[in-house]
Amino acid sequence: MSTKIACLLPGYNCGECGYKSCRELAEKISCAADLTLCPILSQERFKENAATIIGLLGGKGHKECIRGVIDGLVADFALASLPGEPSCREDIYPFDRDAKIRVGDVLSYRPLGCPIKHFARVLRHEHGMATVHLVGPVHLLNGSKMPEDIGICLVSAFEGMVSRGRTPDVGETVSFLPEHCMMQKVHSGVVVHSEGSRVRIEGIDLKVWQRASNKIR
Ligand code: SF4
Repeated sequence: MSTKIACLLPGYNCGECGYKSCRELAEKISCAADLTLCPILSQERFKENAATIIGLLGGKGHKECIRGVIDGLVADFALASLPGEPSCREDIYPFDRDAKIRVGDVLSYRPLGCPIKHFARVLRHEHGMATVHLVGPVHLLNGSKMPEDIGICLVSAFEGMVSRGRTPDVGETVSFLPEHCMMQKVHSGVVVHSEGSRVRIEGIDLKVWQRASNKIR
């Protein structure tokens, strides 16, 4: 399979994809999204080659590729909400020690390292840490008053169900894509609890160091 794919890649061996040669990239490709690593393949003259590669990848035995939109990085799995809940849970820690946080309230905050303001309902508040669900700004359309903004928060944990990709082991450092993330950005962290498809990930980081070269694992 990789030999066939290598023959269909441009053959320039320019390294733009992060690999030394087209053959090296061909050995790593496992889904259509991986083709975006080669900027030359998107040119009109290689359109048919790209379509043929996608056809080859359509066969059985190829894993689903979960890739962030904003960074193009590959994730181990996508994380969805727990059953009956609107989004996966986040544990947030506000830098403002006087922030007013009450269970049931909707508040807004900006996660450290993320440019997007989040709107979330508080499920639990203990030891300065709040567990929330993202509810989005849609509730404002019902005429609700603008929620209290508690400023920048450190997002320390995520909890939810693995919806796509592989279920990780406890203790593993993983990259994952929260299904509700408006930027569809890959996050990283350490799995501290795994029970069926339900996982809890702590030590959240928006920087995915091992993928800095944008290579496929
Ligand atoms: S960017 Fe494309 S042409 Fe260049 S080495 Fe990678 S696969 Fe080959």
